[in-house]
Amino acid sequence: MLVSGRLLAIAITTWWVPGLVSQQGKSSPPPILSNGKTFATWEEFLASAQPGSFARCGSVFDVPPAAELTQLDCTVSFTNTDPSYDPGPTHNINVVFHVLRGANGVGDVTNQLINSQISVLNQTFASAGITFTLDPTNIKRPPFNDTFFNDGGQYWATLAVDPDNFLNIYSNNILQASNNTILGYVPYLPQEGTVGESFDRIVLDHTIVGAGNPLSPPGFAFGFTGTHEVGHYLGLYHIFTGGCLDLFDCFFSSDLICDTPPQIVTFGGVCPTPPPPWPPVCPGGSSPLLNNFMGFMDDGCMIPFPGVEGPFTSEQINRMRCTLESWRADLFAVRPDCEVAAARPRNMGSNADIYRATAPVLGQSMTLELQGPRHSPAVAMGRLLGCERHLANGQVLLVDLHSPLLFRQAFAAPQEKVVRLVPSLPELCGLEFVSQAFIFGGGTPLILTNAIDMTLGF
Ligand SMILES: [Zn+2]
Repeated sequence: MLVSGRLLAIAITTWWVPGLVSQQGKSSPPPILSNGKTFATWEEFLASAQPGSFARCGSVFDVPPAAELTQLDCTVSFTNTDPSYDPGPTHNINVVFHVLRGANGVGDVTNQLINSQISVLNQTFASAGITFTLDPTNIKRPPFNDTFFNDGGQYWATLAVDPDNFLNIYSNNILQASNNTILGYVPYLPQEGTVGESFDRIVLDHTIVGAGNPLSPPGFAFGFTGTHEVGHYLGLYHIFTGGCLDLFDCFFSSDLICDTPPQIVTFGGVCPTPPPPWPPVCPGGSSPLLNNFMGFMDDGCMIPFPGVEGPFTSEQINRMRCTLESWRADLFAVRPDCEVAAARPRNMGSNADIYRATAPVLGQSMTLELQGPRHSPAVAMGRLLGCERHLANGQVLLVDLHSPLLFRQAFAAPQEKVVRLVPSLPELCGLEFVSQAFIFGGGTPLILTNAIDMTLGF
């Protein structure tokens, strides 16, 4: 069912959070409800004992009784996994990333890590047919502000950019501000009537933005906290919501999903061994999905295991696409003919296998890297067509030097890594080309590297 998310959001707002619209007609955040207690602000909630011990996520939602249904297929209390929500045409979401910094710029996050976070989102949501695009001009660095940096003050009121049409992500100091309990959160599920409000957002601690962030707490360096919070932003609850009650009416209770088996407790930490299937933890239940993105395990556990539902299950994907189409209809654009960017190394067997590249995402940075021993000046080139021409020295030329040149990138010795911007030209989406590096100069004989088959995309 495709319904205008904007209109429904307004209607639902008056049902669920009557205090949402003030007499002046301006929005103010509704109270935070947790375990039967009400908190006026996040600061008040965080100062209470409620968040408990260290958790990856501070998002707290109350599940109303099943009686409060609407006609939609994915509400706060019900999921109908209609096949029309299964992955189909690519849904692209435009992102605005706000880097909140304290005095003297503490908490800054590099553009490289921010783009890495977008790449992680594109990889982890590929199975859902959902992509994310961050235009370089949509990385915002507002003036230093200690209050905002510590997740205080209504920073969103002045900083948010069109939350109907953009996913607004803020990085700040939420981990320290929450006494080392929270790595990220969303304030509400879209089904709670917050779509398009200025506080409709995702918050990530600055230390866990991107893959390989050198400041990450142990176990959280893959960028999957961002994936987890986007899961909430697209309507998913934690898989452990409701504990063993999830055994009954699983589309109406707990996380409203049936293919995420019930968990009696919240699992965290490193993956247990041996690998799954792990023993059921609820009477009559099936193996828990400790590798699921909507749990609290370390990033290193959130990988596909053979024969086990993926880090996002089929029904979670169905509910996320339902949420996009039903509640966030203005947020995405359909990209039916566009591919997810790819970079596939290829070695003809006799070439040096030392050339690496990240996938060429339109409008984002791409990293080219020459690994292995120190080398002389080198050049990498991208050509429209590949070839296979065996040279007298046993090496193989893998790019057609007569085909159109898409880029030529020099490496100055002993430089091993370069970053270049991929143009933001949607008409290039899906274009396939081949790249290979040539090492020469000094006393070094010419070395041809492996090739990389690339696809331009999102
Ligand atoms: Zn969470």
